[in-house]
Amino acid sequence: MPTTPSRRTRRTQLAEPEQELTTPAWAAPASRAPLAPFTIRRRQPGPHEVLIDILYCGVCHTDIHQVRDEWRRGVFPMVPGHEIVGRVARAGEAVTRWKAGDTVGVGCFVDSCRECTACRAGEEQYCEGEGGPTWTYGSTERGGTAPTYGGYSTRITVDEAYVVGIPKGLPAAAAAPLLCAGITTYSPLRHFGVQKGDRVAVVGLGGLGHVAVKLARAMGARVAVVSHSPAKRDDATRLGAEEFITARNAADLGRQAGRFDLVLDTVSARHEYDTGLELLRRDGTMVLVGLPEPAPLEARPLIARRRRLAGSMIGGIRETQEMLDFCGREGVTADVEIIPIQQINEAYERMLRSDVRYRFVIDLASLKA
Ligand SMILES: [Zn+2]
Ligand SMILES: [Zn+2]
Repeated sequence: MPTTPSRRTRRTQLAEPEQELTTPAWAAPASRAPLAPFTIRRRQPGPHEVLIDILYCGVCHTDIHQVRDEWRRGVFPMVPGHEIVGRVARAGEAVTRWKAGDTVGVGCFVDSCRECTACRAGEEQYCEGEGGPTWTYGSTERGGTAPTYGGYSTRITVDEAYVVGIPKGLPAAAAAPLLCAGITTYSPLRHFGVQKGDRVAVVGLGGLGHVAVKLARAMGARVAVVSHSPAKRDDATRLGAEEFITARNAADLGRQAGRFDLVLDTVSARHEYDTGLELLRRDGTMVLVGLPEPAPLEARPLIARRRRLAGSMIGGIRETQEMLDFCGREGVTADVEIIPIQQINEAYERMLRSDVRYRFVIDLASLKA
């Protein structure tokens, strides 16, 4: 019967698109263009993958850098978002770590080579394999040609090894920024050995800085905030800082010179480094976690007290889980303002004016409606 095979063929053809999930998202259609509604396809989870229904996605300053193509490696249309918290909708048959219903997170990367020395050390963010880590958005999928799309969407499919668990008790929206802002500041505090009683100065009180203050305080450090905005003094105190140093006040800075074990510089706008370096004691370390435009560096403040200037970028999967568990025990979350996706362009404008205390988080229910 000729009709049967043809119907079967047609069914096979129809079945193809069902392997991909039509998913609403918001994207920047081109560099510097405002974000607008966009439709993407997510794959059905493979044996080692989970399909996650996204609940919340934090809005990171990197999203703005990328949408404006300031790092000149943007892939458009671009769906930003790498502070993702959601619920596992479906797990592949070989998945062992997660099950449907688990509250999980996805941060800045969704894959890496898994073979280089960095990956084997659990520092996948520094992957030395071809192309480095596969970023959650703006990358090309490993072994494929499809672009990766981030969390300004209603679901995402990720390998189980690149997913972390959100501890019970942490509110999902306020936990989302921990996936980037949290790990970006937790990792250097741990790596450079902050101990109870150490003096830590956090430069810049924004999305990264406000989480850094809470984390350093929870580790038992004595925290100071260095900020250009005297208006943030009360917030610094509320977040757990003992001291507030006005970055523009030379006398204030002078009194603080040589007092700090670690300076965590979270500023992403161009600035000079000697102000922060002068705060360090002998053998102290200043760590950069922002990515500002180049600025001159003077040798004198470094050699004067054998100070060190270092950098740090997010953290590996194992350390991200450790950070989340620490935040679960200590009750650390971000201070967030929850917005519907429809307000994202306005939120970017407000972030550029530092008009957010301290992180926007998108409620993806606004995209499902
Ligand atoms: Zn980020
Ligand atoms: Zn690697």
